[in-house]
Amino acid sequence: MKWIGRVFIFLLVSINLFCGTIKINKVRMNNTPAQLVFDISASSTPKYNTSYDEYNRLLFLEIPKGKMNTKFSDRPFVGKYIEKIDMIDYGNAVGFFITLKKNVGYKVYSLKSPYRIVIDLKSNVKKQFTVVIDPGHGGKDPGSIGFRKYREKDIVLSVGRLVREELGSEFNVIMTRSTDVFIPLAERSRIGNRAKADLFVSIHINSSTNSSSTGVETFYFSKKSSPYAEKIAAYENSFGEKYGEKTTSIAQIMGELAYNKNQEKSIGLARPVVNRLSQVNQMRNRGIHGANFAVLRGFNGPGILIELGFINNKKDVGKLLSKSRQRVMAKEIAKKIREYFY
Ligand SMILES: [Zn+2]
Repeated sequence: MKWIGRVFIFLLVSINLFCGTIKINKVRMNNTPAQLVFDISASSTPKYNTSYDEYNRLLFLEIPKGKMNTKFSDRPFVGKYIEKIDMIDYGNAVGFFITLKKNVGYKVYSLKSPYRIVIDLKSNVKKQFTVVIDPGHGGKDPGSIGFRKYREKDIVLSVGRLVREELGSEFNVIMTRSTDVFIPLAERSRIGNRAKADLFVSIHINSSTNSSSTGVETFYFSKKSSPYAEKIAAYENSFGEKYGEKTTSIAQIMGELAYNKNQEKSIGLARPVVNRLSQVNQMRNRGIHGANFAVLRGFNGPGILIELGFINNKKDVGKLLSKSRQRVMAKEIAKKIREYFY
């Protein structure tokens, strides 16, 4: 190569270093100890960001100013610890979406000379699932008031407490409320997010101007709803304040991936719950619906909202008020939650 070529390359490299480009030269796997290693050339310790979506076991590693200096395929890495890796080059950053196998723990750190970003992987990390039980309404908000002035907030609290009892110590159960207090909708989902909960279950009772409306139905979060589901969601949402979502482009990609996966998982619980409750309560099965519920939208994981029956239907409310039936409903909801996880 002519000297002018060398100078040119030298200049290019210098410009790159000057601009702080981080070259990812190789991604490799170490076996003992198990590590995923990113070999990097950079002018200073490379910065990276991570986030972890516990429910989907999705570890996200972002290397700002990163540039792939090698072809990438996840095939060599799929095995005991890793289910798959998706790599996205955004132009000004490289992101790795690493789906870990069940019960795999991880630790991310960087090393010098040469620069590396290392992910330690460990199997058989047992975890206790966290479930949020969210009895709707409460305090100044009675929810729907129906036949003989029975209040939604009282019945759903009673059922919610029983679900907690049924889930017992097997799960880490968090109640958004365990007494008759008012909790804003946004705060309910925040409680779930703060706890990094694996599942959110909101319990409600329906109402209708038509006293012959009857039956049980379940909802999962969907950006699109049918006109019917829209109506129910608008009603439940009217108890909370509206809040906007601020997202960056990467958060949006993460959000979109999580949205699809969470929806699939939510449906996986919504369906057996409605089928079983309809059976044990001998109530009409109104099916499952996707709707834009604020309380489900705000939570970062899968969740369902159960409408146990109609408060202004004499027959429905009779069933919902019975303590022994409440126990049966709670048992069945807990059973479906257990089956959902294991
Ligand atoms: Zn409600």
